Amino acid sequence: MGKKLVLNFPSSLVDKPIISSLVREFNLDFNILKAYVTPEEEGNLVLELTGDEGKIGSAIRHLKGLGVKVELLSKEVEMIRERCTDCTACIPQCPVGALWMDKDSFQVKFSSEKCIACGICLKACPTRAMVLRI
Ligand code: SF4
Ligand code: SF4
Repeated sequence: MGKKLVLNFPSSLVDKPIISSLVREFNLDFNILKAYVTPEEEGNLVLELTGDEGKIGSAIRHLKGLGVKVELLSKEVEMIRERCTDCTACIPQCPVGALWMDKDSFQVKFSSEKCIACGICLKACPTRAMVLRI
């Protein structure tokens, strides 16, 4: 049983070995899907935890107790192409490079594979071309 999570570490916790001690303590496996640091120097990890569901729940409670923000990744972001005006406002906002300008077509492109559904581009888009599917 696996769960995909987005973890947000405050800057005070960024260099602590929280994940390795977590998997030892709760006997879980993990696979890091993305890792990036925000401009505010908070650490973000997207990872999949695999193991006993009860232990995953305990691990999530443990993380929250340490001050880590935990969000289940059960959402998907989609681009509605007809609404996009290729204004590029979303591109610099995306922390994982899931939005970019295609130099041949001059169209803004979106990769659902790279996207971690953080939702930042939804706020940046003036035409509501980026939408969340739950
Ligand atoms: S939700 Fe938007 S900003 Fe966040 S990763 Fe996906 S494309 Fe990038
Ligand atoms: S901000 Fe919206 S309209 Fe502008 S390029 Fe991005 S998706 Fe398209």
